[in-house]
Amino acid sequence: MDRLKRYRRPLEESLERVAYSCAIHAALAKFEPLPDQRPPAFALRLPKGAREEEYLYAAYLLALGLEEPQRPKVLSPDRDRKGVLNFDNASATIGEGGSAILLIEHDTVLPPTLVAAIDGIVDVLPVSAEDLQVAARDFMSLELTDEEAEQLGALPLDLLFAAMRPGRSFVEIVQRVASSQRLRVVAQPQPRLEDLGGYGDAAIWGRELVEDVRSWREGAIPWGDVDAGLLLSGPPGTGKTLYASALARSCDLHFVSASVAKWQSYGHLGDLLGAMRETFKEAATRSPSLLFLDEFDSVGDRSRFSHANANYSTQVVNGLLEAIDGSDRRQGVVIVGATNNPEAVDPAFLRPGRLGRHIRIGLPDYQARKAIIRTHFGDDISDEDVDRVAAATDGMTGADFAGIARTVRRKVRVKKLPLDARTVIACLPPAYRLVGQERHIACVHEAGHAVVGTVIGYGTLEAVVVVNEIRSAVGIAGGAMFTVRNHIVRGRQSFLDEICMKLAGYAAEKMAFRATTSGAGGSEVADLAVAADLATSMICQFGMGEQLRHFKAWSSADLERLRRNLPDVDRQVSRILEGELGRACSILANNWRALEQIAELLDKEGAVEGEKVRSLIAS
Ligand code: ATP
Repeated sequence: MDRLKRYRRPLEESLERVAYSCAIHAALAKFEPLPDQRPPAFALRLPKGAREEEYLYAAYLLALGLEEPQRPKVLSPDRDRKGVLNFDNASATIGEGGSAILLIEHDTVLPPTLVAAIDGIVDVLPVSAEDLQVAARDFMSLELTDEEAEQLGALPLDLLFAAMRPGRSFVEIVQRVASSQRLRVVAQPQPRLEDLGGYGDAAIWGRELVEDVRSWREGAIPWGDVDAGLLLSGPPGTGKTLYASALARSCDLHFVSASVAKWQSYGHLGDLLGAMRETFKEAATRSPSLLFLDEFDSVGDRSRFSHANANYSTQVVNGLLEAIDGSDRRQGVVIVGATNNPEAVDPAFLRPGRLGRHIRIGLPDYQARKAIIRTHFGDDISDEDVDRVAAATDGMTGADFAGIARTVRRKVRVKKLPLDARTVIACLPPAYRLVGQERHIACVHEAGHAVVGTVIGYGTLEAVVVVNEIRSAVGIAGGAMFTVRNHIVRGRQSFLDEICMKLAGYAAEKMAFRATTSGAGGSEVADLAVAADLATSMICQFGMGEQLRHFKAWSSADLERLRRNLPDVDRQVSRILEGELGRACSILANNWRALEQIAELLDKEGAVEGEKVRSLIAS
């Protein structure tokens, strides 16, 4: 027990240590003597954030002040090279019998055998006004009144102990603390998960983790029962990093953050693996902790390593898998990975026991935007103004709101404007108003989806909408929102129906204007791209093509590669798309009057309920 040896040198008293000895004494005094007069052995749980070394000194001071038969052995756990706690020596000493006190940090979890061996766990309360009175009297010969001691007790302890020097009066101490506090950077209160909005399933997972960690701390469940791994994916700025740090605060876990891309930048395999191990070691040393691994996809997916560096890359993936699996390290370590590109993550990372859960965070919806606006503007903005700003900010991310909040606050400060919806909306990036012919095309396009999806029974249409202003970078003009039953397995017709519905907007434009716009193509999430990917999966992955074959494809880019490289795949995909486009056109031709009415209503009102669409089709 290295530390015990170190403390055998003469102990120096300090005011801080005297105050801590008083606090420890008060904690021990709460315990009744054991009925059989056996010398007791206790674990002393220190207050949150306590300076463990100083409390150890204090416990020694206290022990030395007692007569030999009552003098307890003062113990603390050992830490190994990785910082993992080891209670073997402490357990052995307690096993020898005799009075003992074992000091543990606030969130230390004791091994069950040790819990069985000791007579109890006692919480040491933070230093009280009485403790300060005793310490001031003993160490500075300063008599503090109850009121003065209370006032000092409310000050930050580190500054207070530094300021309580012999010869200083109460007033001088207070002045010293006040002036040094002014020099401190005022830290912004950091949010906890419960203070944030917009995280959907991730918020539920986080709340469950808070409960699990609490149960684990109380010894009610082993760490193995804590669901301690998550992969968060979502577009940039949707708050993945913020989520992880807020979750750590809610669970009271030490937050360790690392970037997989940064490890990769070390280049040399040995350095990279070394940096990776260092991070995991830190998480284990500071456990219970939350290890946040940003840019998780940078580590790569072994099934895609076909290049000259395949061996190197495979070793990196294996190294990370090993680090995540290391059972010692996982004790008390929650791992949250984050990525903008989940398709590029090796599926081995997503197995239970590793990052067992994958949750996608999308762009915040209306309710989520209201919560995010509250986070950034607090109570400085009225409920009605929050509603108005949320309605005007479709497509914006949490990071966009953070930027806007900074601009708004500057404007409010400099130009002395009120903090209301008008001021906030004036600070939004310029919106593109969807009017005239462009609006008309968007209405026909969305009505096409609504009609075809309803006629073929793709799902239950909730509503179809067309926006007034396009603000987001994605530039979505509207959408037909269907509730679709979850399928365990899907047949060929189910895929064809989805493709038909996806192509219906394009079909409607083609029929109404004898021309098409770029609205259905372009980005990866556009109708044509989704339809082509669905058809490629049918042919290449689900055995629904001309030949029976299977290719692994994890992303839209993989599917596209198959179309580009295999001409017969490209041909079969085109045949499916043309067939379904034809089907969509004939459904629209049979329901043209309904389509025109829906498009007209959309133009006027911006939204049509599913029920109304069904009645127009039926009439
Ligand atoms: P990237 O993928 O680019 O790393 P990210 O998803 O990790 O981005 P963050 O860095 O967590 O995003 O978010 C950036 C900032 O946006 C946060 O510091 C915060 O100010 C704001 N923000 C994001 N999401 C939210 C939210 N749900 N509530 C409040 N603020 C948010």
